[in-house]
Amino acid sequence: MTIATEVCVVGGGPGGRALALALGRLGRRVVLLEQRAGAARIFRGESISPDGVRLLAGLGVLERVREHAHEVRRLEITDGGARVLDIRFETFPYAYRHPVELAQPVLLSALARATAEQGRCTVLEPASAVELLRDGGTVRGVRATTPDGPVEIRADVTVGADGRYSTVRRLCGIERGARRTDLDRDVVWMKLPFPAAWDRCAYRVRISSGRHGLFLPSTDGTLRVGLNIPKGGLRELRSGGLGLLHARLAELAPELEQEAVAALRSWSDTTLLDIFTTEVRRWSAPGVVLIGDAAHTLSPILGQGVNHALADAVALAPLLAEALAEPRSARPAALAAAALTFQQARQGAVRRSRALQLRQERMFGIEAPIAAALRRAVYRTVNASPALQRRVFAPAYFPGQRPAPADRPLRTEQRT
Ligand SMILES: Cc1cc2nc3c(=O)[nH]c(=O)nc-3n(C[C@H](O)[C@H](O)[C@H](O)COP(=O)(O)OP(=O)(O)OC[C@H]3O[C@@H](n4cnc5c(N)ncnc54)[C@H](O)[C@@H]3O)c2cc1C
Repeated sequence: MTIATEVCVVGGGPGGRALALALGRLGRRVVLLEQRAGAARIFRGESISPDGVRLLAGLGVLERVREHAHEVRRLEITDGGARVLDIRFETFPYAYRHPVELAQPVLLSALARATAEQGRCTVLEPASAVELLRDGGTVRGVRATTPDGPVEIRADVTVGADGRYSTVRRLCGIERGARRTDLDRDVVWMKLPFPAAWDRCAYRVRISSGRHGLFLPSTDGTLRVGLNIPKGGLRELRSGGLGLLHARLAELAPELEQEAVAALRSWSDTTLLDIFTTEVRRWSAPGVVLIGDAAHTLSPILGQGVNHALADAVALAPLLAEALAEPRSARPAALAAAALTFQQARQGAVRRSRALQLRQERMFGIEAPIAAALRRAVYRTVNASPALQRRVFAPAYFPGQRPAPADRPLRTEQRT
């Protein structure tokens, strides 16, 4: 079977789904391929930064997910047993200032439903892109496998929204210039019953010497715990048995020890996230553009992946729509120019997020006592200064928002 369309989007994660929706709103025809049937994904984070919330509002899906979203009001960092940072998100002078927790299947289903209502996008799922169709040096679509046999999608432009191990990136040759940076740590994720005494609207980071853990409220009412371990350290952790995992958790959060022993009875109760970032020099090749994790894989610190995938989609859609409106002969050049404009518009924000994540990663990993004391002093200084808090958090949480002028009351964000 062959399908002709204007845009072929490979990947139905947050980036691909948001792009299909945004292009549909602009009247363009899209075919979206997703290799998995349904919105369920193997373990994924749920944290959406305030800017991601703003983008969802702009896409018209915030209302659809509101009742499933859990608003976070505080970020607390405890270092060596002492609280050194306590951020109240309501103090930031932005229209959208609270992160939310939102299960990725809920987000994906809402994006899919909004797109289906427009009737301009054909979704093939399950369908895996396995090969690029080419005309000379230009990509003209993809060949995909489906349970009903192979399908060819012929398109003016193909968008690789297929995640951190992108097939499109590899097939179109952009992979050759990719730089993968392994971070010093991996994360073991697990879920525990939520402690009765804890604030359900807070993110917690606990640091002890060079170890740290993230403790986040989950939308299913449990506590999502991300325990950081040295890169490749899972084997050592496992060789110490579950007792060592329980002890590592108790070191950071002694009040969770009993829950950890009761809830974590097998390694299958945990998930390992291999943390790396990927940078590619060019986010496009003739006939192809990459977005989201395919273009720039980030680390999970401060929940940045989803909002950058959404921001890419929102930035790219109007540029592609304009290029597709050109006469057929002028379209390839217009699409190439659109792809470059897109990268120029987005790469600065991605770089700033990555730099902030790497800085935090280094801070969390400090072990030497004098350097750890300095780290605590830095957090305390930030804690005491709203201006510094804004400077530190703006690149990650509010890159698309302008602060409200001091003399004007804040427009209240849509409650989630
Ligand atoms: C364990 C974990 C926890 C995370 N926690 C957070 C968090 O709390 N907050 C946050 O913002 N980010 C988090 N991230 C990162 C976040 O999930 C990603 O940054 C985000 O999903 C990127 O969106 P995307 O659309 O670019 O790619 P993805 O969400 O990876 O979507 C890519 C899609 O493409 C499909 N696909 C792949 N290959 C093909 C193919 N050949 N053909 C067809 N389809 C294909 C995949 O099935 C997938 O659905 C986490 C990631 C992981 C792994």
